[in-house]
Amino acid sequence: MTPTRQGSFRLFRLAGIDVHLHWSWFLVAFYQISTRPDSYSSPGWKILEYLALFVIVLMHEFGHALACRQVGGSSDQIVLWPLGGVAYVNAPQRPGATLWSIAAGPLVNVALVPVFLGLWWLDRANNWAHQLPDFHVFLRSLMMINTVLLIFNLLPVYPLDGGQILRSLLWYPLGKARSLQVATGIGFLGGATLVALAVWEQSIWFGVMAAFLLMNCWGAFKHSRALLKVARLQRRSECRCPECRSSPPVGTYWGCGQCGKGFDMFEGPGVCPHCGAVHEKVTCVDCGCRTPVASWARTGESRPLTQVEVPAPASCDVRT
Ligand SMILES: [Zn+2]
Ligand SMILES: [Zn+2]
Ligand SMILES: [Zn+2]
Repeated sequence: MTPTRQGSFRLFRLAGIDVHLHWSWFLVAFYQISTRPDSYSSPGWKILEYLALFVIVLMHEFGHALACRQVGGSSDQIVLWPLGGVAYVNAPQRPGATLWSIAAGPLVNVALVPVFLGLWWLDRANNWAHQLPDFHVFLRSLMMINTVLLIFNLLPVYPLDGGQILRSLLWYPLGKARSLQVATGIGFLGGATLVALAVWEQSIWFGVMAAFLLMNCWGAFKHSRALLKVARLQRRSECRCPECRSSPPVGTYWGCGQCGKGFDMFEGPGVCPHCGAVHEKVTCVDCGCRTPVASWARTGESRPLTQVEVPAPASCDVRT
C-alpha cells in the first residue's frame, strides 16, 4: 500500500528524479490546515507551515534517492502523499548499499538540526518573538516538525527507516531473508502498538498510519518467506553469478521468452528444451541482475550439488 504514479501528477523533475504529488494530499492538506488552531496572525502562515513540512519531507526523500544512486542503485521517482513521501529506490542487493540508501534520509533531518539551531539563535539575538512574531512561531514549528520526523522515522518499526536500518544491520549476520523476517516481526509489534494507541487516543491518523505499517509489513513478511525458499533451493555449484557470486538453483525457474514455458537456464545452457530458443542473458534469482549466460563462471569440475545459503551479493545494478 504505497502511492504510485496512478492518482498523482508530476510537480517537477530535479536531478533526474520526478517528484509526484498524490491527489489525496490536497484533501488532507485542506483538512489539516482548516482544523489547526490559529497560532498565527493570518491563515497564510498555516499554509506556509504545511508546505514547509513537505519541503522537509522532500529533502529527506532526496536523501534516500541520491544515496541509492551513489551506491550504484537506481531511483527516479518520489511521490508525496498525506503520510509523507515515498522515494522509489532500487538499491543493490547487499547490506551496505541498502543501509546507506535508508540511513541517508534521516541524516538529512540530522543535518537540518544545526541549521534550525542557528536560526533559533538569530531569533533570540534579534528578538523576533516581538519583531516578527509570526516568523518566530513558524520557526519554532519547523524545528518541532523536523525533530518529530527524525524521531518517528528512526523507530525500529518496519517499514519505517529505523526498521529498515535494523534490517540492513541484521543482514550481515542473518542473511537477506532472515533479516527481513526478523525486522518485519518487530514491525508487526510496532504496528500493533500503534493500533492500540489509535484506539486509546481515538485517533484516525494513528489508525491510518498503523494500517499502512501493517500492510507493508505483511507484504515484506511474505517476501521474506519467498526469499527463504529461494535460499534453500538446491544449487548448481559449478556456476556463479558474475555480480553476486551465488550459484543458480537447479530446476525450471526461468521462463522461455519464445514459448513461455519454464526451463532450467543452466541445463542447456541457455537453450530452451521445449522450443530450442537460445537465451543470451539470464536473470539471477538472488540479486536480480541480468547478465550473459556465458559470464556465469563454470569451474569445470562437476562438484556435488549442495544446499547453500545465499551469500551477500558483492555489487550489482538491479534492472526490472
Ligand atoms: Zn525515509
Ligand atoms: Zn521455449
Ligand atoms: Zn546474482
